[in-house]
Amino acid sequence: MSIQVFGLPVSRGVAIGRAVLVASSRVDVAHYFIDPTQVLDEIARLRRARDEVAEELVALKLEVPEEAHAELVALLDVHLMLLHDEMLADATKQWILERHYNAEWAMSAQLEVLARQFDEMEDDYLRERKADLEQVVERVLKALMRTSRRTRGEEPSAPVAPRDFGGDDQLILVANDIAPADMLQFKRGVFTGFVTDVGGRTSHTAIVARSMDIPAVVGAREASRIVRQDDWVIIDGDAGVMIVNPSAIVLEEYRFRQRQIELERARLHRLRNTPAVTLDGERVELLANIELPADAAAALEAGAVGVGLFRSEFLFMNRQGHLPGEEEQFLSYKAAVEALKGLPVTIRTVDIGADKPLDRMSTHELRHEHTLNPALGLRAIRWSLAEPDMFAQQLRALLRASAFGKVRVLIPMVAHLSEVAQIRAGLEAAKQQLQQRGQAFSDVELGAMIEIPAAALMIRSLLPHFDFFSIGTNDLIQYTLAIDRADEAVAHLYDPWHPAVLRLIEQTITVATAAGKSVSVCGEMAGDPAFTEVLLAMGLRSFSMHPAQISAIKQRVLRADTKHFAALLNNAMAADDPQAAWRNAAGQR
Ligand code: PEP
Ligand code: MG
Repeated sequence: MSIQVFGLPVSRGVAIGRAVLVASSRVDVAHYFIDPTQVLDEIARLRRARDEVAEELVALKLEVPEEAHAELVALLDVHLMLLHDEMLADATKQWILERHYNAEWAMSAQLEVLARQFDEMEDDYLRERKADLEQVVERVLKALMRTSRRTRGEEPSAPVAPRDFGGDDQLILVANDIAPADMLQFKRGVFTGFVTDVGGRTSHTAIVARSMDIPAVVGAREASRIVRQDDWVIIDGDAGVMIVNPSAIVLEEYRFRQRQIELERARLHRLRNTPAVTLDGERVELLANIELPADAAAALEAGAVGVGLFRSEFLFMNRQGHLPGEEEQFLSYKAAVEALKGLPVTIRTVDIGADKPLDRMSTHELRHEHTLNPALGLRAIRWSLAEPDMFAQQLRALLRASAFGKVRVLIPMVAHLSEVAQIRAGLEAAKQQLQQRGQAFSDVELGAMIEIPAAALMIRSLLPHFDFFSIGTNDLIQYTLAIDRADEAVAHLYDPWHPAVLRLIEQTITVATAAGKSVSVCGEMAGDPAFTEVLLAMGLRSFSMHPAQISAIKQRVLRADTKHFAALLNNAMAADDPQAAWRNAAGQR
């Protein structure tokens, strides 16, 4: 039967493929693809973990006290039987063999399949065995983690291409939640679409999906419970819908739309070498947001004239405590700078915290088990200033990379002048250290992210201390409206058109521009064509976005007359519903 599941549209387009379900588990399970050459080793690792658990269970049986004997021994026997059951043991092996999942993922994928079969059983006794199965799997997962390459701090295996692991069907990831660190793994291009139960429009899962330019739906609540492994699914990233087991006619309709989207993309791509100049001759800078140095090539290919935001925190994720040191960071920044061939690269110092933890953690864990209120906690520059050695390493690495091209350093979540003084002192100290070491660096511009309302309101006081500003609308909206950007329950209130948000953005652009400082928007609004004209009307001439968005935004810029739009701005901003007022006045769809 075909089912439709509704969520939030976060990354456009249509994806059609087989569902790969990433089950949520009580144990923190890493999900990654192993190299095809490691399949047999991974199966051996699984076998060793199973043998270890079998030994544990036998040992437990021997320890059972006399009085509790019969019942407990029977239960442990059930666990031993489940452990060796073909449906668990062999089928888990198949996930490794055919899909190249790591053993932990294979185990939890099979648990999900079996748990559903147990749920459907008529017999109460058998149905209740699901809990036993979960306990057995949990034991195996824990045993596996003791031997995981990642736990030992080793790098995950080399990237794999989708076709490397069997089957010709496209794959779509369906999960309760995907940690940003896992998304990074998936950035290797194995999946052609994502659906998650939780998350908001600007959650980092959504941002990474957009950066991969693949359709995604988040906040689809029950998605991962409704879909089964290998079900055929369609993701409609424009409407925010997932269709499970579509009928042949629906499938055909979506395949047609997919072809149309491809044609439209190819048409837009032809604009990539056209300079972004408005009808009235205003030059507009279209920059790229990247997460890893490897993304720099896509930025150039899309026609970006530089990188407006390199989210360096992605280099720090998933490292199990082994954070990248100065040398490793330097090599990463240098790689990005060199790839940009003389174009500017704006590298943001780590913005770790909130929904971007260092290690794999679901949003649920973050909210409920680790920090009271992570979005208001020790994140971004606050974290860097609390870790002065780490901050110094990063500043030195950034400065050293500046010897190879144009580097601009961007500081996230600035809100206090006391922080500004510490940042400046840190940068001076880093320069001195490099001079003492005799290591080269060039002049770097220093910029502040304007993403806390306090910073937007005190922009005049920040002007003398920074060379440029970048408005992080994702967080600016979150903090202005007190809406957790990752929480689908309040996603309907996350409103970029809110008058308070628009005023803060406009004031920042006006004041910074009047002072001769460059100002850019690097939040998701910059890559959303619905905001291009209103941002141009506010005086914005620099937009930074996912490379995939550049052509679509360029098309809007080429058709815009900034003077015409600027004349409409005041009325729209004064309206109770600026979005409706703007659409009416600007004749926008
Ligand atoms: C923002 O907040 O708008 C931004 C660009 O930074 P991030 O999304 O990484 O928090
Ligand atoms: Mg931000």
